Amino acid sequence: MRNTFAILLLLLSLTLYNCSVTKGIENKTVKNAISLQEDVINNPFFKKILLELEVTNDIDWSEGRTSFIKEDLNDYQSNTHWLIDKYETKGGYDKNAVFLWRKFNPWSSTTAVTTKCVEKTKLNKWKLKRDKYSILNTLIHERVHSFCQVHPNGKQTRVANVCDASYVAGDLAEILILNKMGVKERKMNKPICPALKKKIDEYNLIMIK
Ligand SMILES: [Zn+2]
Repeated sequence: MRNTFAILLLLLSLTLYNCSVTKGIENKTVKNAISLQEDVINNPFFKKILLELEVTNDIDWSEGRTSFIKEDLNDYQSNTHWLIDKYETKGGYDKNAVFLWRKFNPWSSTTAVTTKCVEKTKLNKWKLKRDKYSILNTLIHERVHSFCQVHPNGKQTRVANVCDASYVAGDLAEILILNKMGVKERKMNKPICPALKKKIDEYNLIMIK
């Protein structure tokens, strides 16, 4: 009986330990990714390509994705002008606004969780075996949710949202930083918005494998 109790206690403490929330800056790769956000937001190609994709209607704002945005989108030239304005005025995540936690299910595909309109994000520790460029992609993506953009209810996968502002901005950020670092090709084992892929080719930013 005592043994059972001891085992239960051990399991409980392991669970609590694993689920505990820690600071993103305590992880070196995450810390580096956090510091890369500004670089991307200030890269003229970030703004230029997003606005070009908006002009051709290639950014998906449909199905309630803008429903929770607090600003009046009519005050902006386009929804993407609104997004650029948010990035430029608010910047990326503050280094103290990025947290890490271990999702209970290690096989879950969740890379991060951000409550809409909340200035912080939580990355899943099970999904951190990635380089800083890929984590930067996640941060730039989640930041869009902190600005109140959402994925449609019940449609949370990358495939269902591949051309929405959060995925396009995140993927573009990853590509731009790799380009700046002189990386010539990148294996992206995830679907990318076809219109963004075209822009990457057009501007010769990187070869996607
Ligand atoms: Zn998302």
